[in-house]
Amino acid sequence: MDTLWTDFINSDWHDFRESGKHEDRLVLTSWQQRFVEDWKLTASVPASTSELQSLHSLRKLLHDYAIALANGSSADQINWDQLNKIMAQVPVIRQWNNSDGSRQLAYVPLTGDWNSVMADIVSDFVHTVLDQDIHRIRICDNPDCRWVFYDDTRSRTKRYCEDKTCGNLMKVRRFRAKKGSQKSK
Ligand SMILES: [Zn+2]
Repeated sequence: MDTLWTDFINSDWHDFRESGKHEDRLVLTSWQQRFVEDWKLTASVPASTSELQSLHSLRKLLHDYAIALANGSSADQINWDQLNKIMAQVPVIRQWNNSDGSRQLAYVPLTGDWNSVMADIVSDFVHTVLDQDIHRIRICDNPDCRWVFYDDTRSRTKRYCEDKTCGNLMKVRRFRAKKGSQKSK
């Protein structure tokens, strides 16, 4: 399952096939546009150079946390003061919201810019850590992919970002490796 913060982290894209191809999609205007639209955020696209710098630092920070949590670290190693600082950059108003038919209490930022987007991303990460299960944060088992995702399956055993892509690819690789080792015997 994609969440706001995992979608943000995964802008650091790696080809799941063995090509070694890598792309930083965060810098792409098309990615920024898609991101703010999908998550109903407000920020002017393209982000400025200094905004991109902050976005890159935030992505690195959350990526490091995701890897640590996926490897079994506890939430104690999170620097909450640092996350609080990012969330404190933009004040919000509370608002009853029924725009898409789902009644909810919304926190609407007073300003719509990349600082408010970053505050939203951090707030979504904090929500996962505090209200959801940190042991469900996963990094795709395909070493070429390394997609970050939240495992919302009942069995809690999801190893790949997508069964159709990485799952199948790894199945084929295991099969070939097995066949290769049998041949060499
Ligand atoms: Zn994957």
